[in-house]
Amino acid sequence: MLKGIGASDGIGIGKVMLISEQSLEYTPKEIIDIDAELARYREAVDKFCDNTVEQANAIRQSTGDKEAEILEGHIAIIRDPFMSGEIENLIKANQCAEAAVDQICKMFIDMFSATGDDLTMQRAADVRDIRDGVIGILLGVQEVKISDAPAGTVLVVHELTPSMTAGINKENIVGIITETGSQTSHSAILARALEIPAVLSVANATSLLSSEEIVIVDGGRGNVLVAPDPKKIEDYTAKRIAYLRERRELENYRGKPTENADGTAYELFCNIGTPKDATKAVEADGEGVGLFRTEFLFMDRDRLPTEDEQFDAYKQASLILRGKPLIIRTLDIGGDKEIPYLGLAKEENPFMGFRAIRYCLKNRDMFKSQIKAILRASAFGDIRIMFPLITAVEELRAGKALVEEAKADLKASGIASDENIQVGVMTETAASGVIADLLAKEADFFSIGTNDLTGYTMAADRGNSEVGYLYSPLQPSVLRMIRRIIRCGRAEGIPVGMCGEAAASPMMIPLLLSFGLTEFSVSAPSVLKVRKNIAKWTKAEADAIAEKVMAMTTEAEITAYLETIV
Ligand code: PEP
Ligand code: MG
Repeated sequence: MLKGIGASDGIGIGKVMLISEQSLEYTPKEIIDIDAELARYREAVDKFCDNTVEQANAIRQSTGDKEAEILEGHIAIIRDPFMSGEIENLIKANQCAEAAVDQICKMFIDMFSATGDDLTMQRAADVRDIRDGVIGILLGVQEVKISDAPAGTVLVVHELTPSMTAGINKENIVGIITETGSQTSHSAILARALEIPAVLSVANATSLLSSEEIVIVDGGRGNVLVAPDPKKIEDYTAKRIAYLRERRELENYRGKPTENADGTAYELFCNIGTPKDATKAVEADGEGVGLFRTEFLFMDRDRLPTEDEQFDAYKQASLILRGKPLIIRTLDIGGDKEIPYLGLAKEENPFMGFRAIRYCLKNRDMFKSQIKAILRASAFGDIRIMFPLITAVEELRAGKALVEEAKADLKASGIASDENIQVGVMTETAASGVIADLLAKEADFFSIGTNDLTGYTMAADRGNSEVGYLYSPLQPSVLRMIRRIIRCGRAEGIPVGMCGEAAASPMMIPLLLSFGLTEFSVSAPSVLKVRKNIAKWTKAEADAIAEKVMAMTTEAEITAYLETIV
């Protein structure tokens, strides 16, 4: 069994598809069983030819005969008696198949490249393709397209990037395993949004698992079972059914108000990344959107979105929400969120560097165009603005000044906007927690971003599994930050919500109810579960739990206690 971080709940049983960064490195070794190695080589060539026929057929349909013939030519080359004879001779001389293919292909590549003749030199490129294809198959790392994954696929990848997820077909991918990431990394957030069970930070997963191998992904526990026996498959199929049943039971909470056991009402919002996600928020019974991560509009493209493009996106999300609140966070790039065309310099310490509000305030035109787009959309619904990564009052003031400027510009052009738009602070840095009393005097609301707040308070990178043992919102320091932010917000009479992943944690919920949080913003699939967990506690019960927890000194003690009550 392989251990990792359970990042998206549920159980997936399926066949591994390795998404490799095409490292075709191999360790040459001396072969003893020559017949077995020859058979391994011949099987790889057969598979390579089968794949090539498939690809050629697809290309014939989509592009044309000529392109298909180029690929079919690869079959003729690898099946050429001279070439395959030379490769087999090397295997018979005790070389492993990878080394034999590599050496003979290299000989041909050098020979063709040396001619200087265009047509012949193209053959060198063909041989390079063949070499990579066959060695890839021998190593079990052939290049695969996620969008082509068949039903029942478990994706195994070093790191799941946002652009990769674009190719995921939810119907076919039953599990995700990565070598990096944590509960709050973007891989996790995306996996949860897609409702695909995921285990992250499984050390060496891409080398320990091979394509086509059957695995069970237990996203709740963070376990990966490799080559399970039929009994295990049966057990886990039963667990999967039970899990799906529990999800069905949660349906009883659909359409109900979000209230604690005393009947006190709370707001239960969703986190979204695209306007389309607003539909998911509504379908999930979310009461609004507490965090629209606008950076997704800036990713997956090669230039900045224009003001009009952004306006369309924000307006679309707002219209889908039909008057429900929509909190739009201004661009939060840097750290683990890269946007290549912005050409940000590589930094020693990107999480503490030139990012988010810092970048935006220095790139005023870009920032103003985003704010104007939000303001224009605010004429169509209940839209609020939120600034990320605030660490000083001046940043909030500068952001608010820009909002005022943008309002004035729009007014002068006769364009409608909500003149009383609320401007809030995402309290996600240690500094914002410490000066929450000062910020609360100038912000219209707070939303606690525990994903970063935990990292910055504990000085523990949210994506680094080595320091994962420190990265917990149940650390006494983080709980004190959270309590302080809520108290400071309440003292100034502004609402305080939470949009970090901790808002959906059953162990955290009674503490948040006791501290006085009024809004929870979670991923769409968590909405009903959070509503159920809020309904579980009276204020008096939540206070008693919080009192005990806040008297404890270690995270281990706190977690052990909270596990007994949820
Ligand atoms: C957070 O930091 O808690 C948060 C919600 O924002 P993100 O995960 O996008 O950094
Ligand atoms: Mg954040």
